[in-house]
Amino acid sequence: MGLKVYVDGKLVSKDDAKISVFDHGLLYGDGVFEGIRTYDGLIFKLKKHIDRLYQSAHSIMLEIPMSKKGLIEAVKQTLRANRLKNAYIRLIVTRGVGDLGLDPRRCQKPSIIIITDKIALYSEKFYKQGMEIITVPTRRNIPEALNPQIKSLNYLNNILAKIEAVNAGAEEAIMLNSEGYVAECTGDNLFIVKRATLLTPPVYLGSLRGITRDVIFDLAKAIKIPVREEVLTRHDLFNADECFLTGTAAEAIPVVKIDGRKIGDGKPGKITLKLIRKFHRLTKVNGERY
Ligand code: PMP
Repeated sequence: MGLKVYVDGKLVSKDDAKISVFDHGLLYGDGVFEGIRTYDGLIFKLKKHIDRLYQSAHSIMLEIPMSKKGLIEAVKQTLRANRLKNAYIRLIVTRGVGDLGLDPRRCQKPSIIIITDKIALYSEKFYKQGMEIITVPTRRNIPEALNPQIKSLNYLNNILAKIEAVNAGAEEAIMLNSEGYVAECTGDNLFIVKRATLLTPPVYLGSLRGITRDVIFDLAKAIKIPVREEVLTRHDLFNADECFLTGTAAEAIPVVKIDGRKIGDGKPGKITLKLIRKFHRLTKVNGERY
């Protein structure tokens, strides 16, 4: 039995999971999405992801033609159909089928797609040894143009940054905002540890309010590590004691070199490793069954 994908109320096999070439999700990147994880049969932070999806949709005036409860049930139904215990869920809502003009009023009904599959974003060695990352020329979208807090299907800004990182032989890119302050990575938030304090850029500087980022805040507070949102420059990163990235797909991953500069002693930091352990423990017990 092959993988089943949810498309507009139906579970269809992977090969039949198709949408129209007139869908504005394809034509214009007009739509929103979420990436969610399950661990041992528990969906991690499901409600937070669903809330963020509806907020992204509200912001672009896209009305999701389903209640939150209905959508949660559809996600669970898709996971059950695929008998997945450890999965990555991609939830997508597009503007729907329209004509070749960009006017969203021509789109009759948004399309809802739920893909559940496995994911391994980075190779295991980076989780053990830490990653080397670089800053890239492409700046993060300014919030006044396309707010990075909207998780939209329009990821070209991040893709350009990723291409620059890959071209330079790096796995991930740090994106600065238009003023040159650190925003985030192409699909992850960034943290540093300085003098036993956890620092991350405030989202108004141009990053997504990551759900993993919020979890890390809570875990740090629980073990009495102070956390602050702070404006950060590359200089601050270079001189950090520790650095790591967070995201649903990447989870939490140590960074040991930035633009050729060793971070701390060049090994994954103590506080970083402690938070990663706590994060993994939490994913095993905190979640919604399906
Ligand atoms: N920043 C960007 C640009 C992202 O796409 C993501 C999600 N992959 C994140 C940060 C991390 O967010 P979360 O922890 O909610 O997955």
